[in-house]
This record gives sequence, structure tokens and C-alpha cells, in this order.
Amino acid sequence: MRTLIKLEENPEVLIVSNVTSFLNPTFVYVPTLDYAIKEDTKFFKDTYLKDNIISISGYLEGIDEKLYNNKLTKVYKIHNDYKEHNLKRLRKVKIKDLLELQKLLEDNFLSNLSNKLKGSFKDLVVTCFDEEIYEMNEFMILYNNYKEILKMLDLLRSLLNLEVAYIAIKNTNAKSIKKVRSIIGTYPNLKLVLLPDKYLMSMDENVSSYLNLKVDDTLVLKTTEIDMMESLIEGKFLDHKYITVSGDALKKSLIIDTKLGVSLKEIEEEFLKIKPCEYNIYYNGYLQGEKVNSEDLIITKDTSSIVFKRKEDVEEECINCGACNKICPQNINVLKCFKDNLRSKRCLNCGLCNYICPANINLKERIKDD
Ligand code: SF4
Ligand code: SF4
Repeated sequence: MRTLIKLEENPEVLIVSNVTSFLNPTFVYVPTLDYAIKEDTKFFKDTYLKDNIISISGYLEGIDEKLYNNKLTKVYKIHNDYKEHNLKRLRKVKIKDLLELQKLLEDNFLSNLSNKLKGSFKDLVVTCFDEEIYEMNEFMILYNNYKEILKMLDLLRSLLNLEVAYIAIKNTNAKSIKKVRSIIGTYPNLKLVLLPDKYLMSMDENVSSYLNLKVDDTLVLKTTEIDMMESLIEGKFLDHKYITVSGDALKKSLIIDTKLGVSLKEIEEEFLKIKPCEYNIYYNGYLQGEKVNSEDLIITKDTSSIVFKRKEDVEEECINCGACNKICPQNINVLKCFKDNLRSKRCLNCGLCNYICPANINLKERIKDD
């Protein structure tokens, strides 16, 4: 197993332990179709345009250009008409076997998740913690939905014909441990395991190695994935999700339950208080995410966090300290790659080299090989 480290978090970035709801935005945005449609076209909530769900009902107000999954994309701007209450609800689904669950996921454009269930597994682990500093989505889903998560995990265990499934929680996460312990006794085939609070712990090979399981025989899923399966079975649409908006450039960090397709601008105007400072915005994590140049980005099913980070000091000369080489979990010779302008396919994009570099050099961007 790799040597893992605990990341230091900036105490200024306090993440609250409640969820802010944003389920009635004024606008949502979805990528356009390949053909023209009339102005004022009516869109219905929880219908799909290609594989993108429309999360509100409303009218087409125009076409815009936004950062959608971090790419500049033409999008429809849909104005909310707040008439969701007239719409049909889905029915609960009875799942008899794994194929039915896979089909349900595929019908809802979750093929990646469906594919993860293909294969033969001897063990199943759900990891209920966030890797990135300043992210608390996984924690919050477990905390709020622990009963549903355990029920779904037990169902998945039986669909996979496994004797036991594990629910893995950080050993520092006392609140979730208490909740899970209060009901796990009713599930004789589920086992709670506590993992050290170390960065990259939830990677398949690290979890498996820590629990003495064979990585090739072990299915490792996240709380969010179990939650999505449970929601679909219960007849709920996946038109909203938890995201964490945090960082030392904000006066207060938030976990927001937001409709998909909302723009960060609208979230900012509604909820965020930005400190008077220069800042960068990181999409999907400070360590593993990408710096984005615009606040005009859209929340999609792949968004997990937005970090408003005070502008770091400028890059300085490398002092040859070797810290980047020592910390790299892939044992890449980061310094040599940096100096000789080389990229490495083995790079995990974990961001640890950037995190440790005293000269603030953006090593990750220079080394990862897309
Ligand atoms: S980002 Fe890549 S090069 Fe940097 S520490 Fe992680 S694996 Fe190593
Ligand atoms: S951590 Fe930064 S300063 Fe130290 S050797 Fe690596 S690149 Fe140079």
C-alpha cells in the first residue's frame, strides 16, 4: 500500500454541517440540440434533452454560452415558470436482479455506474468520505440519509450474491459513526469499518489493501453512487445534488442542495459572500480540480465542489528541496519531469506535488498526461 498522508486544512475554511437548499432557481441551462427550436418553447421538468435532465419547468429565453462540464458550450437558457407541482411523479421500482438495476441506471444515463456493477466480485465496500479538503458531500449524504444508504447497500449486496458488504467511514467522523452504529445491528450482513483520515484512502487499491481484500475482486463504490441507486428505485428524479462551495476567499462555506443546470453566478448572487481579495476558482476540488477562468459555469451531475481560493503567491524558482518527489504516491520523479519538461501517464492528478511545493509551482499541470 502507498504511504498516505493527512492533509492540513486551513482553519479559516470552516464548513458548516447543514445543507442550504436551492431548488427553485430563476434559470437553468442545458446544452442545445443540433437543430433549431422556437423561442418560448416550453420545457417540462424531469425530461431529458439528449442525456441532460431539465431540472425545472419553464420557457426558453434564449441561447447562451457557458462552462458546462468545464467546456465552453452552447446552452438553452430556461426561465423557471414555477409550475412543477402539476407534473407526474415516478413510481417506485421493484428490483429483482442485478440486470434490472443496471437497466434502471442506463435508462437514467448512468452507464458508467452500471458498468461498474459488471463483473464478478467477492467483496463490496462503500466509502462514505470525501477525499478533497474542503468537500463534504459524501459525509453529508451519509449523515442525512444513513438509513436509506444502509438499506440500499444491503440490497446491492444481495443482488451481487455476497455474504458481507462493508461500509467504510473515516475514524475521525464521529457523527456518522454514531448514526450508522445506531442501526447497523438490523443488517447482520453489513459491517462498519473505520479507516484512517488520510488523503487518497478511498481509492480502490488503498481501501482494498487496508481491509486485506483483493482489489480485482472488490467493488468499491461511493456514498453518492449508492444514494443515486436508492433515489431511482424510490422513484425520485436525479435533478438535484449536493455540492460544496468553499475556500478561503469566502466569508462562509456552504453545502448546497442545488438543481442541476444552475449557474454558479446565480448561486453566488443568492448565497455567497466573497472577501475583498483576488481569488481563483477551482472546479471539483482544490487538489484534483481545474482552475477555471469564469464564474459563468453550470452545475452538472459531475460537479462536486467549487473552491474560491485566495490567489496564491506567484511561482518562484525551484529550490531543489525534493519534497515533490518524496510525496508523489506514484513514485514519479516529479522534479526531473518538471526540469526536463516530461509528462507521465502514471500521474493520478492527485495534486500532492502542488500542495507540498514551497515555490508554489503548478507541477501537476505540467506533469499529468491527458
Ligand atoms: S499530481 Fe501526479 S505527479 Fe503530482 S504527486 Fe500526484 S501523482 Fe505525483
Ligand atoms: S517541491 Fe517544488 S521547490 Fe521543491 S524540488 Fe519540487 S519543484 Fe522544486
